[in-house]
Amino acid sequence: MDLKHWLGRATDAIQDWADTFGPYQPHPSLHVADDRFVDAFEEFTGRLKDNYPFFHPHYAGQMLKPPHPAAVVGYVTAMLINPNNHALDGGPATAAMEREVVARLAAMFGFDTHLGHLTTSGTIANLEALFVARELHPGRGIAYSADAHYTHSRMCHVLGMKGHPVPTDARGRMDLVALEDLLRTGEVGTVVLTTGTTGLGAVDPVHLALPIAERHGVRVHVDAAYGGFFTLLAGVDGPGGLPAEPWRAIARADSVVVDPHKHGLQPYGCGAVLFRDPEVGRFYLHDSPYTYFTSAELHLGEISLECSRAGASAAALWLTFQLLPPTADGLGQVLAAGRRAARKWARLIDDSAYLTLHQQPELDIVTYFPTVEPATLAAVDTASARVLADGMTGPAPIFLSTLKADRRAFAARHPGVTADADGARVLRSVLMKPESEHHVEELHFKVEQLTKAR
Ligand SMILES: *Cc1c(COP(=O)(O)O)cnc(C)c1O
Repeated sequence: MDLKHWLGRATDAIQDWADTFGPYQPHPSLHVADDRFVDAFEEFTGRLKDNYPFFHPHYAGQMLKPPHPAAVVGYVTAMLINPNNHALDGGPATAAMEREVVARLAAMFGFDTHLGHLTTSGTIANLEALFVARELHPGRGIAYSADAHYTHSRMCHVLGMKGHPVPTDARGRMDLVALEDLLRTGEVGTVVLTTGTTGLGAVDPVHLALPIAERHGVRVHVDAAYGGFFTLLAGVDGPGGLPAEPWRAIARADSVVVDPHKHGLQPYGCGAVLFRDPEVGRFYLHDSPYTYFTSAELHLGEISLECSRAGASAAALWLTFQLLPPTADGLGQVLAAGRRAARKWARLIDDSAYLTLHQQPELDIVTYFPTVEPATLAAVDTASARVLADGMTGPAPIFLSTLKADRRAFAARHPGVTADADGARVLRSVLMKPESEHHVEELHFKVEQLTKAR
């Protein structure tokens, strides 16, 4: 689809609608002459060049990529109206779209019942899940793996709850023996399982943790902010498919968070939280003297901690789902390509004399480091940092990222590396663009060259 054409159609469509309300004069205070705009726009676009090419297959670093053109058109078109999804008074159309996309997300996870809404981010979505966890288990803390997103400990602090990090195994997944030991203390009310950790893409075994949590009367929240859409590949055959168990088990969790602005092709400002028991809506009760005029129907602001939220986010996700639905042969195909890319690159690294695979990728994140002699943490750290920096310079740059792995993580995976430091940075590539599939050989070759140089 031609973005330029559809952005033009978007302004026409909204103008046609606006014209039905009769003419009026824009106020002179808002007037901007074209010649002034030209200058400002020139400076603006010039400044935007100070960026990394997230769209390009040679960008294989952090979890970043541009939204799908359908999401851009959906967002911009709705933004021309600028609805606020806090209340139906703020825009009934996008509130209805939000309900529909949230229902599709709930169906994707296999929730039989649900209450949920979009949020500004995964952080806020997780905050809401932990807030409900606190209301249901006052005085008890939250357990999450040592590799869980850093915001869980921050949000525990915000909520005045105690956070309990649980050690991870040699693949970066929560150690369930350690979890059960912790649950026996009775101090924990909710366990957070991460399906797709941000650093390594490790998937906590939700199916095995659920019965443990149940035995101890503890809630289960799944942080699938990054990994949630990989549910679409659960049980799918072929190199892009994933083992079904942890993903199917999400259906039995109490709550789940997913970020459409990560793997759902959306612009930033789109997270989601879903609760399996709609009754938890009672914890959000509040009185607003300003809103909720137009109907007695449920307003999204009555079941969310945030007030104003972009209706455009719901519009963008709704339009995207019309074209790339959250199904195995819709959006699933996009994720499967990244998954195949990660497997392919991991094989190349395994066969390389210059690079060492940090661990087998479970999803689409590959972690690796230059093979150094003598093998020490300090040497691995220096070599990884150098490849990262050197990769970004020169005529055909590539963009990677680094992940700090501690001494314990190294001992579990690479016992031959001498621990002469607390840890070491390793290289990390999130292959979240389907185009990566056709560029990993080239990326691998370049990283090998960078490793050999010097
Ligand atoms: C990205 C991420 C978050 C935080 O989400 P934001 O949208 O960046 O606020 C939380 N948990 C996991 C596992 C993530 O990958």
